[in-house]
Amino acid sequence: MTERVCLVHYHEIGLKGKNRATFENRLIANLTHALRGTSASRVCRISGHLLVESDDGFASQKMAHAISRVPGVARVSLAYRCALDEDEYCGAAVRALGEAPEPWQTFKVHARRSSTDYPLHTLELNRLVGGVLCGAFPQKRVLMHGPDMTVVVHVVQGSVYVYVDSGPGVGGLPVGSAGKVVSLFSSGFDSPVATWMVGRRGAVCVPIHFSGRPVTSDQSEWLCQDIINALAPSGIVGRLYVVPFGEHQRQISLDVPQGLRVLMYRRVMFSVAERIAKVEDAKALVTGESLGQVASQTLENISVVNECVSLPVLRPLIGSDKQEIMRRAEDLGTYEISSLDAPDCCTLFMPRRPETHARIEQILEAWELFDHDSMIEQLVDQIEYVDFEQCKPYKPPKCLRARHKELAPAEWQR
Ligand code: ATP
Ligand code: MG
Repeated sequence: MTERVCLVHYHEIGLKGKNRATFENRLIANLTHALRGTSASRVCRISGHLLVESDDGFASQKMAHAISRVPGVARVSLAYRCALDEDEYCGAAVRALGEAPEPWQTFKVHARRSSTDYPLHTLELNRLVGGVLCGAFPQKRVLMHGPDMTVVVHVVQGSVYVYVDSGPGVGGLPVGSAGKVVSLFSSGFDSPVATWMVGRRGAVCVPIHFSGRPVTSDQSEWLCQDIINALAPSGIVGRLYVVPFGEHQRQISLDVPQGLRVLMYRRVMFSVAERIAKVEDAKALVTGESLGQVASQTLENISVVNECVSLPVLRPLIGSDKQEIMRRAEDLGTYEISSLDAPDCCTLFMPRRPETHARIEQILEAWELFDHDSMIEQLVDQIEYVDFEQCKPYKPPKCLRARHKELAPAEWQR
């Protein structure tokens, strides 16, 4: 019986030389995790591809779609798996081409052989299958360059895989192959997209959200959770940290000049995120900043906020336009949730006229106007978190409180 399976094509992993097996194993583990709850029964390796088999022998479009969203997947094909039997694979080619969505006029056959123990060469295979298809579809034409449809016939390890349909995947590298990052995460459009971009490059992402609680409601925290659930098919998020920041913002707004408030909030946010990064053993912070988008995102302001941390801060959206970001949010399924308005720390105690070109001397002066060390310490102490099942390679820190104490600055260890 001809089975239906998904063939997973990767691109960058194929370029990885000696480390390739590690990347492939990571992708196999992530795909297996992403497909739990579907009829997928096994993910395995076959000559430069991965193969996903289904319990009932009939892999579906839905399964192919779930696979396409996993970082590291360049393309997915829903293929017929046949024995090395001419009648069977020619019959599968007729079925596959018959299922191609109309309208189309032209086609070609592209045969490949990954094992040489089959006597027919690719040219002979092309001719054989092409002849059968010409008979089955007399109203269609063969076209060698730029046909509407390509029927792939791939002979590999004792089987023949036949497919027409091949959809794009998200690309990138398997999550867990590039370490861990802590991502400053709001319920707006930008930071979820920025987080996804770094996740797509293989990083396990640990978002941290600053809420306005108890001065505002906890609505933004729920929106962040909904956004993370919308990102679940990618499997990039392990844990969300939530910091109730409202009271501390009130304190800052009382202590520092109005125009510098936002920059002080942001320095505190970066500092707390860096402390969590150390606890999590994450190697970088991530933000959704885009150059010049709002007052806090001028080069001067980015630089005076950045000054308070020593970890690299990744800003994958720095050169993106809002429109591009919103389009990406739509593709990811976060757009609708990010459109909902929820007050968070960014909407609290906003100055009428924020500084747009801060100088480092004025910032360092303002930084000394409130006890930032003890504030950061309290915020880390009050942190809350929610774990997510979506990310297979996420390993939580052994003991948040204990490790946090170890990592605290000397004066806090007494
Ligand atoms: P976003 O759409 O991501 O909220 P934004 O356009 O609203 O971004 P800002 O509010 O200036 O811009 O935020 C810049 C970046 O700071 C965000 O992309 C995010 O990384 C971080 N950030 C903003 N608000 C929060 C928050 N409440 N908690 C954690 N990080 C935040
Ligand atoms: Mg925002």
